[in-house]
Amino acid sequence: MGLCPRCGRALCDHTPKERGQTHEEMMRPLSDKELAALARNDPREKLRVAKEQARLLNQQRNMFGDIQLSPEIWPGNKRLPVEPGNLSLFAPEGEGGCENQDSDPQTPFLRASRTNAHGGSVVFFDNDVTRPDLKTLLRVLHVRLADESLPQTEYVAFLQESQNPCEDGYILQMRIVSTYGLRFLYRAFHGEMDTFPKQKVPLTDALWYFMEQERKRWGTRFWEAGEQSLEGMFNGDGDGAREELCFGLMVENGYYKIYRLWSRAQLVTK
Ligand SMILES: [Zn+2]
Repeated sequence: MGLCPRCGRALCDHTPKERGQTHEEMMRPLSDKELAALARNDPREKLRVAKEQARLLNQQRNMFGDIQLSPEIWPGNKRLPVEPGNLSLFAPEGEGGCENQDSDPQTPFLRASRTNAHGGSVVFFDNDVTRPDLKTLLRVLHVRLADESLPQTEYVAFLQESQNPCEDGYILQMRIVSTYGLRFLYRAFHGEMDTFPKQKVPLTDALWYFMEQERKRWGTRFWEAGEQSLEGMFNGDGDGAREELCFGLMVENGYYKIYRLWSRAQLVTK
């Protein structure tokens, strides 16, 4: 039986549900890393390894917590002209096609969408946002998938971890594409939208979960790492300039409801 991601022990009273696993997943044999952690018998190390293992298991199921993730290449016989899972492309604002957004450097005055007050908005913010802050931010940006009077579970999610965070400017990113955008912008399916699988979690919860996970993983203060350390990832020197977690959020396309959230780091300087 694998180590428990809640308490780090091999045998415990946590149910599969509490562990976020199926019965089979819970009963799987220990991995080499888990065996090594068990042998060292350091409770913190066991918990860290158990959580890492749970994350791997989740990846294999294409889950991020309770968020169902979609594949990079959209399934089906026909190749789409633009993959919604190609996170190197940004959807242009407006009701046009889904080609790469014009990346000409423009002033913020001219970069704004002409047809949507929020379209193309990018907000960079610190890791100290509260849940009410997030709610307010989403309301101000008119994120309709977070509007409680509208359906909030009709979206797909793509997750990507950067191999070169300093060059790419992000550590982990999640792209949200509404079922509507999937259907009418990407033409990823043709059936009824009502029958397309919905997410279990409303968008606000999904975005909050993303931030919570990243905060746990990297810690929230430059002097105290989380499960992993950011040190040096954005060329900090570990002394006069040290990495601290922060975030970015973008309204890629307000009309088709496409959004992006990513973790990054700022250098806190002496
Ligand atoms: Zn347990």
